[in-house]
Amino acid sequence: MPLLEVHHLKVHFPVQRKVFFRPSSTVKAVDDVSLTVEAGEAVGLVGESGCGKSTLGKAVIRLIDPTGGRVVFDGQDITRASASELRPLRRRFQMVFQDPFQSLDPRMTVGESIAEALLIHRLGATVAARRNRVGELLHSVGLDPDMGDRYPHQLSGGQRQRVGIARALAVEPQLIVCDEPVSALDVSVQAQVVNLLRDIQRENGLAYLFISHDLAVVEHLCQRIVVMYLGRVVESGPARSICRDPKHPYTQVLLSAVPTVHPSAKRSRIVLQGDIPSPIHPPSGCPFHPRCPVAEPRCRVERPEIRSTGDGREVACHLVGIGTP
Ligand code: SF4
Repeated sequence: MPLLEVHHLKVHFPVQRKVFFRPSSTVKAVDDVSLTVEAGEAVGLVGESGCGKSTLGKAVIRLIDPTGGRVVFDGQDITRASASELRPLRRRFQMVFQDPFQSLDPRMTVGESIAEALLIHRLGATVAARRNRVGELLHSVGLDPDMGDRYPHQLSGGQRQRVGIARALAVEPQLIVCDEPVSALDVSVQAQVVNLLRDIQRENGLAYLFISHDLAVVEHLCQRIVVMYLGRVVESGPARSICRDPKHPYTQVLLSAVPTVHPSAKRSRIVLQGDIPSPIHPPSGCPFHPRCPVAEPRCRVERPEIRSTGDGREVACHLVGIGTP
């Protein structure tokens, strides 16, 4: 049984009309998304900014309420669970944010912030036990335990993100939703934090839902990849096969921007025209058709369903045949 099951999840937001304040339309931020994450597995969720991946990440751990569909965590349906029903489960799934300030109180020292997480979940019976545990956690993310006495603003971006990870680890979760955890960091620091996350996952048998716009990072860290476009999944499957042979034209575009070190694997960059369309008025037919380099006339009117290609992958494109290896 998967640790996390997401079935046909929808997160729709009403858009208020300026006159009369009546809802006039709906943003379908997440529209009929299904995915699973096994225990100990890292699943990458990729797509451009605005494709709904962060909204999906927050909905699966109930930081925002889904409009439809189901979220099942370790066999328990949590789609409509109340705050009191969710409280004991909160320890088992955590989130690491792009901006660690979202999880760190600027008025508390780093040590106090991590100790607070221990206290909320009744871990560490005494002040001394919690202080020891804070030191261990800081050490486990590559920081000097003395940093526990500093405030978030006294740390670099990379150090703050390590503290955010330590705070998430404090409650010994089974699943961490990582929402663009390295995109705000310097490139040189990004690799260090990604490697840290990979080592932590292997050592602790953790599952990740790793949200990123950067396929290179996801390729390095994840066993499976889910590609989203305008609130929907367009391709999913094992990371290695998607990165070796992307089938959906959008995945091909994303992958063409990933640099390779091997000259034999050189990719030609495909430049995508235009911005991602508004999710308030998504294009008809295939939502990718206005930007798709290989669109056909039927793509403007017929929406492709997501279908298995028979090799552990699923693709939503008219041009990708069922059973194609
Ligand atoms: Fe492109 Fe058509 Fe496939 Fe959509 S269905 S990705 S527009 S070829």
